[in-house]
Amino acid sequence: QLEYGNALEMFRAGVAADPDGAAVKYFDGVLTRAELDEQSDALASALLANGFGRGDRLAVYLQNVPQFLVCMVGTWKAGGVMVSINPMSRTRELSYLLKDSGATVLVCLETLYDDVARGVVPDTDVTVVLTTSELEYQSRNDERLFKGVNRQRHDGTTDFTELLQQHAGQTPPAVQFTPNDVAFLTYTSGTTGVPKGAMNTHGNVVFTASVYRDWARFAPGGSVFGIAPLFHITGLIGHIAVSFLAPSTLVLAYRFDPQVVLDALLEHRPTYTIGAITAFNALLGSPEFSKDHFSSFTSVYSGGAAISPTAEQAFLAETGKQVHNAYGLTETTSPMTLTPFGAPSPVDPTSGALSVGVPVPSTIVRIQGEDGQDLPLGEVGEIVAEGPQVVAGYWGKPQETAASLPGGALKSGDVGFMNPEGWIFIVDRKKDMINASGYKVWPREVEDVLAEHPAVRESAVVGVPDEKRGETVKAFVSVKPGATVTPEELIAHCRERMAAYKYPRQVEIIDELPKTVTGKILRRELRE
Ligand code: ATP
Repeated sequence: QLEYGNALEMFRAGVAADPDGAAVKYFDGVLTRAELDEQSDALASALLANGFGRGDRLAVYLQNVPQFLVCMVGTWKAGGVMVSINPMSRTRELSYLLKDSGATVLVCLETLYDDVARGVVPDTDVTVVLTTSELEYQSRNDERLFKGVNRQRHDGTTDFTELLQQHAGQTPPAVQFTPNDVAFLTYTSGTTGVPKGAMNTHGNVVFTASVYRDWARFAPGGSVFGIAPLFHITGLIGHIAVSFLAPSTLVLAYRFDPQVVLDALLEHRPTYTIGAITAFNALLGSPEFSKDHFSSFTSVYSGGAAISPTAEQAFLAETGKQVHNAYGLTETTSPMTLTPFGAPSPVDPTSGALSVGVPVPSTIVRIQGEDGQDLPLGEVGEIVAEGPQVVAGYWGKPQETAASLPGGALKSGDVGFMNPEGWIFIVDRKKDMINASGYKVWPREVEDVLAEHPAVRESAVVGVPDEKRGETVKAFVSVKPGATVTPEELIAHCRERMAAYKYPRQVEIIDELPKTVTGKILRRELRE
C-alpha cells in the first residue's frame, strides 16, 4: 500500500505540513516549501499556456540548483514527464537524449547553453528556457564556481525567471496521476551500451522515497545534503523525493567541488546524505577535511558504486560515522537492497566482499542461473529484482524492455549471491568479467585486495588482450597524496593474497581514474 497515490500528492502533503520550512538551501539563499509551490504553479501555468499537455516531456539540463525542483514539480502540475539530463552531456549525447525522449521544452543553464545546447537545439523541436540560477539564489558571489557568469540575452530563448514572473499567482487546473503514470525518464549512463530512458513511475517514486525515510532514517525535520548529481536516480530519489516526503530541507551546492562541499557542510550542518564512495573519498582526501565536517550527520549511505570493507573502515576512522551501503539501479528507482540503518553490513569471509544489504520491503531479489532458474543460497548468479520500485520499461524501446525486464522483473546485469541470513553480496557486473585462460576473474575482488595496500587511493581492474591467456588482468591505480609505490610492489602484494590466475600481471599508476559524474569508474575508457 503506497502512502500517496502519486508524487505530486506527496509533495503537496509536505507543503501543507510545513509551508514556511526551507525546501532548499543553496549557499545563502533559501526557497521555502510555499515558494516552491508558487513557483511550480507559475511554471506549470506557463507550460500550459504554451501548448504543453498531458504526457509531454520537459527536459532539465541543470546542475544541482533550486530550479531543478521547480521544474520537477511544475512539470507534474502541467501533467507532464520530466526528463533528467546529465549536465556533463556534450553535443552528441544531448542531441540523442532530446530526440530519444521527444522533449518539447528544455530548461538549460545558461553556461551549458553557450557551450553545448546552442549547437544542438536547431536540429530539434524544443523550446529553450534559460536559467541563470547563480544570480537568483546566490547572494555571495563565489568565485570558485560562478566566475564570469553574466545574464545574457540569447535569441530564440526564454528567460526562466521572467517566465515565472509573467505567470506568478496563476494556479494550473488540478491534475490526477495514477501510481502507474510515468514521473521521470531517467537515462542509464551508457556505461554498458546506448543510454535508455527508464520510465520511473509515480508509484516507484513514492515507494522509494519511503524506503529512504523509513529504512535509511532520512527523517522529517532534518536536512539532506545533495552530494550526488540531481539528474541521477540517487539525486532524484535519495535527495529530492525523500525531502518532499519527510519533509526535510535539501541542501545544494551547484556541483561536486570538494572545497565548496566542505564549506557547505559546516555552514548548513546537514543530517543525511547518500552518494558514491568516490565522492566521499574526495572529501576525505582534501587537505581541509576534519571530522567536524561530518559531525552533524546522523545517517550516511553509500550507493551507486562498490564500497570495499577497507573503504568502509577508513570512512569510520576518519569521520566517526558508520557508512551504510545501498544498492540499486536507475531501473529500480534507486534502492533494491540496503543495509538497514544501525546494522553494519557483514563481510563475506570467502570473497572478502562487503554486503550491499538486504532486499527492501515488498521486494523479491532472486539469484538466477544462466537458464533463469533460481539458485540455492550462496551460489553466484545474476541478481534479479521484482518490487514496487522496478520501472515500467524503457521509453520507446520494447525490445530492450522485454530483454531486461521480462515479465516485469529486472535482470540487473550484476552478478552476486545471497548468504543464509539473506544478505546480498555483489561479485561484479556481468560485463566486467575477465576471462583469463578460461578462469573467471571479477575485477572487484582484485580491487578490494589492492585497496588493502596503504599507498593505494583507488584502483580499477580490466581485462586486456593476451596472446597466451586470451585476456590478462591489468590494474590501473591512483596513489594517495604523499605515498609512493611501484607496480612491482603492487603485483607482489596481490600475488601473496590471491590465486595465481587472479592477480594482476600488469599495473599502471595514473593520476586519476576516469569516472562518470556519478562516480562510476569508466572501465571502457581504461580498456581502450
Ligand atoms: P548503464 O546501465 O548504462 O551502464 P549505469 O551503470 O550508470 O548505466 P546506474 O543505474 O547508475 O547505471 O548504475 C547501476 C549499477 O551501479 C548497478 O548495476 C551496480 O553495478 C552498480 N551499483 C550500484 N550500487 C552499488 C553498490 N552499493 N555496490 C556495488 N555496486 C553498485
